[in-house]
Amino acid sequence: MILHPPLPFQPSTAGRFTPLFQPLAIGPVTIKNRFYQVPHCNGMNRQHPSAMARMRGVKADGGWGAVCTEQCDIHYSSCHPRELRLWDEGDLPILIPAVEQIHAGGALAGIELAHNGFHVHNFETRAIPLAPSGAPTRGTAPIHARAMDLADIRDLRRWHRLAACNAKRAGFDIVYIYAGHDMTLPVHFLSRRHNQRSDAYGGSLENRVRLLRELLEDTKDAVGDRCAVALRFSVDEMVGPNGLSCQGEGRDIVAMLAELPDLWDVNVGDFSNDGQTSRFSEEGFQENYISFVKTVTGKPVVGVGRYTSPDRMLALINSGVLDLIGAARPSIADPFLPKKIEAGAFDDIRECVGCNVCVASDKLAVPLRCTQNPTIGEEWRRGWHPEYIAPKDSNDRVLIIGGGPAGLEAATWLGRRGYPTLLAERDGIFGGRTIQEATLPGLSAWRRIADWRLQQLRKDPNVTLLPGNEITAEVVLDTDFTLVAVATGALWRSDGTGRSHSRALPGLGSFPLFTPDDIMANRRPEGRVVIFDDDHYYIGGVIAELLATAGCEVTFVTPESLVSAWTVNTTEQPRIQKRLIESCTAVCVSTKLVGFEAGFAELSCSFTGQRRHVAADAAVLVTAQTPRDTLYHDLTAALGMRLGSDSAPHIVRIGDCLAPGTIAAAVHSGHLFARTLDNALHDRPPFRRENVVPDWDQPMPVRSGCASLNGDR
Ligand code: ADP
Ligand code: SF4
Repeated sequence: MILHPPLPFQPSTAGRFTPLFQPLAIGPVTIKNRFYQVPHCNGMNRQHPSAMARMRGVKADGGWGAVCTEQCDIHYSSCHPRELRLWDEGDLPILIPAVEQIHAGGALAGIELAHNGFHVHNFETRAIPLAPSGAPTRGTAPIHARAMDLADIRDLRRWHRLAACNAKRAGFDIVYIYAGHDMTLPVHFLSRRHNQRSDAYGGSLENRVRLLRELLEDTKDAVGDRCAVALRFSVDEMVGPNGLSCQGEGRDIVAMLAELPDLWDVNVGDFSNDGQTSRFSEEGFQENYISFVKTVTGKPVVGVGRYTSPDRMLALINSGVLDLIGAARPSIADPFLPKKIEAGAFDDIRECVGCNVCVASDKLAVPLRCTQNPTIGEEWRRGWHPEYIAPKDSNDRVLIIGGGPAGLEAATWLGRRGYPTLLAERDGIFGGRTIQEATLPGLSAWRRIADWRLQQLRKDPNVTLLPGNEITAEVVLDTDFTLVAVATGALWRSDGTGRSHSRALPGLGSFPLFTPDDIMANRRPEGRVVIFDDDHYYIGGVIAELLATAGCEVTFVTPESLVSAWTVNTTEQPRIQKRLIESCTAVCVSTKLVGFEAGFAELSCSFTGQRRHVAADAAVLVTAQTPRDTLYHDLTAALGMRLGSDSAPHIVRIGDCLAPGTIAAAVHSGHLFARTLDNALHDRPPFRRENVVPDWDQPMPVRSGCASLNGDR
């Protein structure tokens, strides 16, 4: 067991933030304060139950008054590939550890029960998906959902009730009905787009609300004596007259059901609207949509909006817009946010930057990752904690060369461990790529990555900051550091090589060429500019926005069929494509840049290879990066003779210098180095793994007739 030192901040009186620390009754339970971690996906689900439980437990330790699970499917006809399940009591062992962890931290445990209807395809179970009216399932799968008849509706109500009872058995305090994000059957029934029924469950709003009302009543009846019943509802779908809106049916539904749930958890739908990135929205971006809710219901209301500012939270409670500050991403970036506010340790709050790397982990079905908090998802697996780190266990003196995200992160945690650490940076300011990229449109929040770390470092007597110093191999060899981390970053390639081209593009010398590094250093093209985005994340798109706004005629070229294709995982892609279509002169998808001639760029169709020319004065190549690792190689070469001897420092590369990637990856790399003083690959995994235990002899369920499986059908 790891014994933790005291927190670096001590709980004190909350002072003027006291309203955030008042308890509140939610039906039969009471939350201790106003910090509410709303349900959020995390890529862990039933594959990583211990990791999921500990991640939730750390948030409870961090002071959140309620901590909820992600969505939890109630039946095998709602088979989401990445979420929790409560199909029957056999799933309880997955959920109970999470409840125990959350309770151990003093928080209420919430569970978001869900049936995804035709939002899912049920590839695994092969159950035909269910919908209010027959329709193809979401996306592109060749699957149709069938219209539910009245017996199906009775079944659904029974499944929900059974799941609620099992949730209560597991010890949950808050049980959800999930009618949000256009993702579940209750909201499919509410929607005029999806519900074309002519029976008592379709047509008028009263009829479309019927199923949701019944589910709420059933759940209250089943578990309401001990559990609060929460309704998660998207009051505005942001799709215009075809959807629910906060001035139309969204508002009417809140009025119709006003006092039925014990808690209203409100947001906007779909998830790409609810989980907008900082590139497209500010803190509090949902307020205009949700602020009516408290005027219509007397029940507690929780809402979200990437809230990280204590003053903003206080204003929301004091002005009566919300009763509870909801958070998913801010609780991921800083699981100890409530305790820090309580202690008045505002500088220590690690603010979410709104990048949605966390959302991408879920889409990719891997345990949660976060740009700001590299410990998330590693709490159980590696025993990492967002606030604690083991004290130093060697006498190393550490030099870190390069003050980008990797170097800053490494220095922050090495200092906390007690290692004497020197962080040297060539530029006059620290931050590396975070500071440079923050100058691009929509990315100013990236500054927070450097800001938080510098705040911590300036308070740490173990760390010396040395800006404005380019470190050479000779300098290092003149020192007596025992451990040297080279965190010198990477440079964008200027020859067009990358995913599409393994060799330099022809005609390079005859054409004015720029890279993202040039753009960020204020070297800018003019006139007709071709941007070749073979990187597919955000940089190509933001440079297109920047140059188009500056008056360039931008032709955006990508070999993929979508612009900034990887941002599908961060849910931003449709917004980016819209913005580029609106701002660029031309957007050429499924197209490669293949060469240059004076006044022209040569393009080629990704599928047919057919070529064409576009008039161009310059090109920006956003293809791949190359590690800035000359110093590392100089050092290892110079030390070659001394390696293995007591006087040779241990040299490692971290961050983009080791392998270019996301800022989140650079931060993680710096953190890993601070924890382990190394970044080597090991023969065995240096982390715990969840074990799937074969259950070969499990009896087959009875299948002759439905009576034995279907309760009271
Ligand atoms: P990462 O994402 O891996 O942290 P960055 O490119 O953001 O990488 O940061 C690398 C930092 O290293 C930059 O701020 C750069 O100025 C600095 N740097 C590069 N070479 C040297 C050097 N020889 N001495 C000191 N600092 C350096
Ligand atoms: Fe916020 Fe980005 Fe962390 Fe998600 S990954 S919590 S958006 S900082």
